[in-house]
Amino acid sequence: MIKRILLLCLISSFGMLTACSPALNFSKQERALIHTGTEANPFRVLTIVDPKDSQILRTPSRDLKKIKNNKDLSLLLKRMQVTMDKEEGIGIAAPQIGINRNIFLFTRIHETSKKVQVAINPKIIAHAPETVCFKRDGCLSIPDIRGNSRRYDWIEVRYYDENGILKQEKFSGHVRPENFTAVIFQHEFDHIQGVLFIDKLCE
Ligand SMILES: [Zn+2]
Repeated sequence: MIKRILLLCLISSFGMLTACSPALNFSKQERALIHTGTEANPFRVLTIVDPKDSQILRTPSRDLKKIKNNKDLSLLLKRMQVTMDKEEGIGIAAPQIGINRNIFLFTRIHETSKKVQVAINPKIIAHAPETVCFKRDGCLSIPDIRGNSRRYDWIEVRYYDENGILKQEKFSGHVRPENFTAVIFQHEFDHIQGVLFIDKLCE
C-alpha cells in the first residue's frame, strides 16, 4: 500500500497533479483567519512585495478533506468572492488570502453569464501537447506588473464544486477578451502549487 502511494506521489510530481500530502480539514489557525470577518468582509490580498506574504504564496497547498456541509468553507468561499470583486479580479486562489489549500475561484469568461466557479481539490488530467504565449497575464498578488505567460490552449480538469460534486470539464482558449477560461484556470491552479505567472514568462 505504501509503495502504491509513493508511486502515485512520484507520478504526481512529474506533472500537473497536486502534491501527495493527505487531505486534512482546516486547522485552528486557518479557521481563525476565515473567521476574522463576516461574509461581507473581504480578506487582505497577499503580495510578493511582502516577504512573509511571499513565503505563503510560494508554498504548495494541500487538499481539503471535508467539502460538504462545511461552514468554514462556505464562509471562506464567500469572503474570497467579495475579495475578488473588490479587487476586480477574474480569479483568486486561497493562498492569495493566506490559506494554503487547493481551493480557487475562476470566471467562466467564455460564457455569457461569466459565472464565477468554485474549484476545490482540482487536478489537470490532460492538456494540449504544446504551450502558447498568452498576452498580458496579471495577478492580484503582483501589483502593477503585466507579462506574457506560457500556457496550454486547452486543458481537461477535474475538481469538486462548493457542494462537493465532482466535475470533469475541458476548457480552451488563450485569447482575450472572452476566450481564455483555460488560462484563468491554469493561472489559479499554479497558485496552489506556489507558482506565479512571472515564473513562466514568454516573448
Ligand atoms: Zn494570480
